[in-house]
Amino acid sequence: MLEIPPLLIKNKVSFEKLHDIESCNVSVIWIIYNKKKKVIVNQGRSRPCGVNHRKSSIHAEQKAIEYCRKNYSRNYEIYIWRYNKAGQIKRKYSCYACTLLAQKYNFSNNIYTFYGSRRCSAIINNPPLSLCYQMN
Ligand SMILES: [Zn+2]
Repeated sequence: MLEIPPLLIKNKVSFEKLHDIESCNVSVIWIIYNKKKKVIVNQGRSRPCGVNHRKSSIHAEQKAIEYCRKNYSRNYEIYIWRYNKAGQIKRKYSCYACTLLAQKYNFSNNIYTFYGSRRCSAIINNPPLSLCYQMN
């Protein structure tokens, strides 16, 4: 069973297509949540670093921030997380590059991840370098 984020979600959304057993350890799920209407307005999945190619791919936060900038609403919140193989939600902190991006566009207070059944900020003081940066 796939764990559903601990949010009140009024629209029908499926997370099944975002969960891929093969790549779940590296995939980051992102959603844009309208906190006023309690609906998910957009969702997607990205791999921090492609397994088969050295080129770094677009991070979840990048996609989410891009969407929020194009479709701005002050009610939008960004949530990111990973699924483990069992389908449980795992906390995901933003990497160093995404933290800078979030600060640049003033989204640092609107990006969250989940810790147990609670949400917490995905922006932390000493953000980890992404896997790609570590390998380069
Ligand atoms: Zn990142």
